[in-house]
Amino acid sequence: MVEQNFQVDSLESKAQDKPWFFEVLPCRPWPYSGECLSGYLLRLAHVNEFNSFWDFIQDIFPMWSVANRISNLRWEYPVYNWGLIPLRTQLSTDYLKKLTMVPLVNKFRSFPVVTRHGLLPPSRFLPNIVDLNLQVCPLCLQEQPFLRLIWRLTSVQVCLQHDCLLQKQCSRCKARLTVLGTRHRHLHCSVCDMDLRMLPVVMAPDYVLMKQNIQQANLQFLLSPDVTLVKLSDQGNEDPRRAIGLKFRYLRLQKEQSMTAMALQLGVSLWQISELELGNHVPLRFYLSYLDKLSISWSEFAALELPHDFVQEQKQPQYKYMNLRYCPTKECPNHYSFSGTRVIILQDLPHRKKAYFLCKDCNRHFTRDYNGNLITKRCKAPRHSHKLLFRHKSAEEIARLKEMGLCGKSNYQIAHSMGWDRRTVIKYWITLDLEEKVLKAQAQRRIQEKQDRYLARCSQVEAILNSLSDQEEEITLCHVGHRLGFGPSALRKYPKLIEHMKQVAQQHNLYIRHRRYELLMAKIRNIIKEMENSNVAMSIQDITRQVCLTVTKFRRNYPELCTMVRQALSKHKAKLKLLHTNKLCLQVNEAASRLAAQGVPMTYKAIFMEAGLQRHYIKYHPALRNLLQQLVSGRKK
Ligand SMILES: [Zn+2]
Ligand SMILES: [Zn+2]
Ligand SMILES: [Zn+2]
Repeated sequence: MVEQNFQVDSLESKAQDKPWFFEVLPCRPWPYSGECLSGYLLRLAHVNEFNSFWDFIQDIFPMWSVANRISNLRWEYPVYNWGLIPLRTQLSTDYLKKLTMVPLVNKFRSFPVVTRHGLLPPSRFLPNIVDLNLQVCPLCLQEQPFLRLIWRLTSVQVCLQHDCLLQKQCSRCKARLTVLGTRHRHLHCSVCDMDLRMLPVVMAPDYVLMKQNIQQANLQFLLSPDVTLVKLSDQGNEDPRRAIGLKFRYLRLQKEQSMTAMALQLGVSLWQISELELGNHVPLRFYLSYLDKLSISWSEFAALELPHDFVQEQKQPQYKYMNLRYCPTKECPNHYSFSGTRVIILQDLPHRKKAYFLCKDCNRHFTRDYNGNLITKRCKAPRHSHKLLFRHKSAEEIARLKEMGLCGKSNYQIAHSMGWDRRTVIKYWITLDLEEKVLKAQAQRRIQEKQDRYLARCSQVEAILNSLSDQEEEITLCHVGHRLGFGPSALRKYPKLIEHMKQVAQQHNLYIRHRRYELLMAKIRNIIKEMENSNVAMSIQDITRQVCLTVTKFRRNYPELCTMVRQALSKHKAKLKLLHTNKLCLQVNEAASRLAAQGVPMTYKAIFMEAGLQRHYIKYHPALRNLLQQLVSGRKK
């Protein structure tokens, strides 16, 4: 492939502006008209005999450290502020823009696309517009060996020059054709290196050709850098989107289509249609599909002059905040479409970025901020809306309302008895200028009610205290609370009442406790007496169980009684032991006399055997030991 059209440095360029010879590429062919940036870069790498495309990319984008950055170039859009492309090729950025999607994007946005987060990468606004894979016409490549920018668009499917389908696949290795890669060669398959000019030619069906004819003319128009869609004023600070949106609205109204119908056709939300027509930010592809639905071409769109009347009309108040004018009530007919006449602005608050609206169909008042969010926070109604309010209510109703308000009834009660909404009641206080009076009356009523509640509670508590003091029961907060029908915290709001109750309870409780103690002591004494009369061993548990107490509680609450019980128990225990010893001694004596009668010698073993006792008894019964000693030593004598 031989290039005749080499670029020659202009002789006029000043010496100091001249770059060093090593800063520019030795071989700098002009881009073809309609060539894409990625194709041009591949071509440059090829004619300058770089080892690989990645070597070339590292030369023009030295800041790129990883090879996958190459994929940034697939969008046919300037990235990284062009890198060193302008220096290396000695082409101006304005010239280079013709190789990219910038003219297309520029029609709808200002270049470069900047958001509040900074520069927007092309991957954010070009998806669905630019194809991420390559498609080529082999016949075109045979005629002129360069990659066309228009092939890079997703919606382009055929070559209109040769009436053939664009090839998306390598016929040898069956791989999808890729745009760029580290070892990519110009006009070759990146996988098997087959020459793309050898790809098969498949003719396109007629209906596809017809459709593509219109579509490609449209896209060519958008890619052309010299035309604009709208005429902007000379100041140049006007946003093209606003004017474009207005044109869209005009065209839609010409076709007598509602916003809702358009949103349905495009499969987008009503809000997005409204945003587009208002010139706010919407995805780029919406513009393309919207125009498609209006079935006119972009050149016709660009040529369209909006009638002066229409432009003026759009500035009328009924078109202000059109996108906010839909009713929040789901059942309302104005919920699903914007209405300039059925939903009216009551007040606009630009400093707070919100406006009050009234839906005339369902009479709902609502507030929206400029972003369309419904503000549900309770707020004061606009004072000037009184005329509107009075239109709906009769004089009798207003009189009744006033009367109730000045009595200090709560807004809830009033709303309930009037059958209104509580917010309506509040609005009336404001419009009737009664707000302060009503609030005062309501506060008065609340104080009175509180007082009444306190007195009622006092008499209740008094009655409960009386009935409790007749009973053999301690008076506690818990008891009183239960009697009142609440928990122990029933009286926490009335500290004075609690104080009074404590005074009353103190005497009563002391008496009750004393009585309870005496009763308990009598019971314990009885038990001890019974125990003393019996020969049954007992523990402290046996005793406390009989008075329905645990040992711990008994020991803690009645220490004196506990000592008494312990003394009685140890006394009882000693008595039982003595009885036992006596019984054993008797047994031993009997056994000894039996042995003596039989003439058996007296030994410990013989005595134990005869008495049926075990040896260890002598350990616990010293008296038994003494007796045995006497018996055995008596025999020895
Ligand atoms: Zn072709
Ligand atoms: Zn291949
Ligand atoms: Zn409504």
